[in-house]
Amino acid sequence: MGRVFNFSAGPAMLPLEVLEKAKNEMTDYQGSGMSVMEMSHRSKVFMEIAENAKSKLIELMGIPANYKVLFLQGGASSQFAMVPLNLFSEKKKADIVNTGAWSKKAIAEAKRYGNVNVVASSEDKTFSYIPELSAEMFDQDADYAHITTNNTIYGTLFPGLPEVGNVPLVADMSSNILSQEYDVSKFGIIYAGAQKNIGPAGLTIVIIREDLIGKALDFTPTMLNYKTHADNDSMFNTPPCYSIYMAGLVFEWALEKGGLKSIEKINKEKAGLLYNYLDSSSLFKATVEPKFRSLMNVPFVTGNDELDAKFISEAAANNLTTLKGHRSVGGMRASIYNSMPMEGVKALVDFMKDFESRN
Ligand SMILES: *Cc1c(COP(=O)(O)O)cnc(C)c1O
Repeated sequence: MGRVFNFSAGPAMLPLEVLEKAKNEMTDYQGSGMSVMEMSHRSKVFMEIAENAKSKLIELMGIPANYKVLFLQGGASSQFAMVPLNLFSEKKKADIVNTGAWSKKAIAEAKRYGNVNVVASSEDKTFSYIPELSAEMFDQDADYAHITTNNTIYGTLFPGLPEVGNVPLVADMSSNILSQEYDVSKFGIIYAGAQKNIGPAGLTIVIIREDLIGKALDFTPTMLNYKTHADNDSMFNTPPCYSIYMAGLVFEWALEKGGLKSIEKINKEKAGLLYNYLDSSSLFKATVEPKFRSLMNVPFVTGNDELDAKFISEAAANNLTTLKGHRSVGGMRASIYNSMPMEGVKALVDFMKDFESRN
């Protein structure tokens, strides 16, 4: 069987060019006589792989010099605890915007170590929008403010960044990092699990402003202290070596595509194609208000569970896979991360048109 168009929310598709390159280097990485999976993380050859991945990410995102890039493990889910453990040094207060299931987890974990103020929530309408936020809503006394820039399950995207004054803005960017340009200097911390838009699972990226390092609560485990990893260039213990190598290949691929400006443009075209069809369809309907629609995760429904199931199974038979929606929204969800080519979205829309005409 050939490759399918895989609309999985994560782990997700990777660029074919990247997979091919990894395949060619699989058993003998550039004359080293071994696979990247078999190398010492302290070897010169691996140190270069890690250094290259880091510098490519800095170039891609335009990360300023007063930020550290950390390659960690434990997923974005570990960051829900690491952020408060490391930032609750003064007031033990966090302002968190609740825009879905992942925000709720960030709230629940922060509550274990301090006080959480839920600044605003869109739970009243099944998280189908992003609440209006103004500067006065944020406490200037909080240790950090937290947002989820893209809500993977509900398919919403923050249309801009909230004004939070001098409080460090922390962002869970797991499902839209590298999908569009962001001004990194607006953030205290950006974190993301790799398996959506970066590479294989197992790697967690943390981009942290240097002044936020070294203030962890006393009882913070060594491995959960950002300072441990910043001081050791993410090599305090064995890092997720192969995932770092793959991430480096994806960063190179993204730079070859023209960087985030051109990737953002392509993403807008891809998402536009799908949303335009959804808005014109009399069978399918997008679930998110237009101005908050994600470029990465597109939930849609027919309103009829049986028809949804039929669509999902027929689509899979046509090489359009993993379109089932998250159980909390139902219906379908097409995740169209950076690696999903335009042809994949076109194939999906063509199939949807055909399905509509038959049903
Ligand atoms: C997938 C996801 C997570 C969870 O990531 P893990 O790496 O599995 O812990 C957290 N936040 C968002 C926005 C996600 O999309």
